[in-house]
Amino acid sequence: MPARIDFRDALRVKPGSRVRLETTDPAATFGYDKASAASVTQRQLDRLADLQDRFWAEAKRSVLVVLQGIDAAGKDGTIRKVMDAFNPMGCTVTGFKVPTPLELSHDFLWRVHPHAPEKGSIAIFNRSHYEDVLVVRVHEFVPEAVWRLRYGHINDWERMLTDEGTTIVKFFLYIDRDEQRRRLEARRDDPTKTWKFKAADLAERALWDRYIEAFEECLERTSTQNAPWYLIPANRKWFRNLAVSRIVAETLDRLNPEYPPPEPGAKDLVIE
Ligand code: AMP
Ligand code: MG
Repeated sequence: MPARIDFRDALRVKPGSRVRLETTDPAATFGYDKASAASVTQRQLDRLADLQDRFWAEAKRSVLVVLQGIDAAGKDGTIRKVMDAFNPMGCTVTGFKVPTPLELSHDFLWRVHPHAPEKGSIAIFNRSHYEDVLVVRVHEFVPEAVWRLRYGHINDWERMLTDEGTTIVKFFLYIDRDEQRRRLEARRDDPTKTWKFKAADLAERALWDRYIEAFEECLERTSTQNAPWYLIPANRKWFRNLAVSRIVAETLDRLNPEYPPPEPGAKDLVIE
């Protein structure tokens, strides 16, 4: 078992730092192997279950978890694994798809804000407002002068949520091109996965370099003290699950949620 690593420190994108994904190893495992990771991940899930129960009972603050990554990076799989620890009461998952005409007729945050978590709750975003500086940039759906201002709008909006009691954690799941090819082949060939596979995925894959460029600038400009990005090596699903579950658990732990005290006098009530 490797020495205890503080993933919050090791994987956090430091505000103001440069991000070069080609110097990041997407297959890094920090000394863990699949077997040693399994028990540690299970421990995180147990911790998460306890923390979320207290967090929901306390009902004073909220958490927003954002998941981004290129197609097949493992956003759905991460949610399935980490959510497993949560009582569905007190947890919401929202997937953000191609905007509808109604959504497009508003500002880009309009469709996102209603899904921000209520007090006591943990909201998980499968894709998010970040698509508006990622896919939108890569495809030039709006002019650069428009998407470029969005980094600031996002930082301001996230700052406001933080000030109002929401803790924000953002995960960028990083796989390399070879790993994406393997996963897309599995989607093409495995009948339980083909529903996720579309010809359009290959058109997106052809834009790989432009996506990397968009991810790098996004991480650089929007990893802030109050809403940090974590750059997760995600070629190995078991390591991804370990890192994400540990960071979410550490984040909740630091909030130190507490069960509310009993109502005054409640202890003395006689239940006939
Ligand atoms: P999936 O996550 O596989 O269900 O796919 C959702 C699709 O919606 C992806 O291709 C995203 O790039 C796309 N999408 C999400 N948000 C936006 C957005 N704001 N503008 C354009 N496309 C988006
Ligand atoms: Mg997809």
